[in-house]
Amino acid sequence: MEKEQLLDKFIQEMTATEDSMEGIAKAFAPVAEKYRIGILKSRFVVAPTFSTRKGENREDVLFRATGEVETQPAYSITFHTGEKGTAIFELYRFSGEGTLSDDEKESLTPFLNVLFVHFGRFRMINAVKQMGMADLLTGLPNTRGFMAYVQELFRTGELTQYNGFYFNLSHFSLVNKRFGVKETDMIIYRYAEELRTFLQDGECIARLGGDNFVALMKKPRTYEFLEQIAAVRTYGTIGDQEYTVVVSATAGVCEIDDSIKDGGHIIDDCAVALHTARHIEKKPFVFSSEQIKERIYTEKKCVTDFDRAIKRREFKAYYQPKVHTDNYAIVGAEALVRWERDGRMVSPAEFIPIYERNGMICQFDFYMFEQVCMDIRDWLDRGIEPVCISMNFSRKNLSNPNLADDIMKVLAKYELDSKYIEIELTETVDDEETEEVVSFMHEMKKRNVSMSIDDFGTGYSSLNLLRSFPVDVLKIDKSFIDTQEETDRIVLSNIINMAKQLNMRVVAEGVETRGQMEYLRQMNCKVVQGYLFDRPIPHDDFERKMVARKYEIGE
Ligand code: C2E
Ligand code: CA
Ligand code: CA
Repeated sequence: MEKEQLLDKFIQEMTATEDSMEGIAKAFAPVAEKYRIGILKSRFVVAPTFSTRKGENREDVLFRATGEVETQPAYSITFHTGEKGTAIFELYRFSGEGTLSDDEKESLTPFLNVLFVHFGRFRMINAVKQMGMADLLTGLPNTRGFMAYVQELFRTGELTQYNGFYFNLSHFSLVNKRFGVKETDMIIYRYAEELRTFLQDGECIARLGGDNFVALMKKPRTYEFLEQIAAVRTYGTIGDQEYTVVVSATAGVCEIDDSIKDGGHIIDDCAVALHTARHIEKKPFVFSSEQIKERIYTEKKCVTDFDRAIKRREFKAYYQPKVHTDNYAIVGAEALVRWERDGRMVSPAEFIPIYERNGMICQFDFYMFEQVCMDIRDWLDRGIEPVCISMNFSRKNLSNPNLADDIMKVLAKYELDSKYIEIELTETVDDEETEEVVSFMHEMKKRNVSMSIDDFGTGYSSLNLLRSFPVDVLKIDKSFIDTQEETDRIVLSNIINMAKQLNMRVVAEGVETRGQMEYLRQMNCKVVQGYLFDRPIPHDDFERKMVARKYEIGE
């Protein structure tokens, strides 16, 4: 073949190939044959840059024919790459073929020029591919990179040697506030560098974005890794001052077995475990399990079914009477929700905590409040004098500055006197909340609505604090009633006495036995609520009992 023809063909074939070694070898074969060349080698030496952190120093055999070759290259040519690196191509002739003449070298030069141009193209394609797979800030793989890597491990059958992790940096918004966006990025960068040093062969950490990371670690290193991410020391700068930052992460862990086939599956399982760690168990890490997946599924369903349940009026107000210990008269009742869902009665313990967590509880509480107000209105209209009904309001409602007015609006809508309702709030867990509770109680006092502290004795309120509470009723938690502990009994009698002195009423809840009731009566606690008299009962049953006004209890 003529030289020009050979070059045209070479250009054509090189243009068609996309960085495949076979492609290059195939294109070069006729050239090698013509010039009796046994080996074509390339050597790239590129200094580290921002995009290629380790730089490049690689040697590749691009073409090899069978047969012995000389130890020294017959011809070598050096090019300069855009990043101030060098690319060297070397041609080795078969043993005994001697060196290339100057003419031959001159004829070969255009081939190597073409090769170099296409190498530039291949490297560009690779860089773009890698960019799509890497996180720009940290240089770690991104979601796509992680997926691709998992795919590769799955293909080679190595995936089950690893466990998956999804971790999120705790309190990172505080770091953001303190150091600003730019420096926070640098902290994340340093954090990633720190984690990178922990990696062993085959392990991988990827950044999904923000302060969310995923990782694959060899199974035996699971706990070591969890310990590692529990506290990573790095630093942030403000001005020219450096401050230590200890980054701690919360993690969801997925133990990878044969059932797991892709990165998406790993991320999903870990995310569920992470959610449980952060919001439910409040632990530094949680392992994914069937139980957890089931729970999250139920949670999601509770949330998605909410609107439908409201529309179909599936949330029912049940009533549990409060009874006077002297004459067993019904002196009040507590409204407790039951969800009549697909023919099954769902207990509030299954869904109230979920609505508490996602904030839907406030809407829910007002819905229940309206249901109860409608019942009271209906009793009044039918000439039945209702007892005072106590409503449970989640403390989440306290962040509503118009809570007191919103409650009054509902009472006004049904033209109800405030004496028919009482608001139960559970005890607080910290000082800040205590302030909110106290101010809300004052608001309600002004509006003549009675207030009660639920589950009293289990939370934060010291007896001393009670003096600042404008509260009408203390509901003593069930745990004080069903105990045999002497100390509990002492606390109980002190609560009752103190309440008396502060002019508060006391209601004991969870009274199940006659003995418990007698004991409470002796201690001067006059109102009890519990299974001894009734469980929370449906509207119609309650109405009947309320009209009768009294329990008969045999001696
Ligand atoms: P809670 O306010 O402390 O309600 C008392 C719980 O004790 C009720 O459980 C009641 O059925 C149960 N109980 C009453 N007497 C006895 C007894 O003698 N023995 C035993 N073992 N238990 C007794 P329930 O109805 O399952 O409600 C659980 C919790 O769900 C309530 O605790 C309350 O915190 C919440 N809840 C119920 N309805 C509502 C609602 O409409 N709004 C809000 N925010 N929370 C509600
Ligand atoms: Ca209650
Ligand atoms: Ca209670």
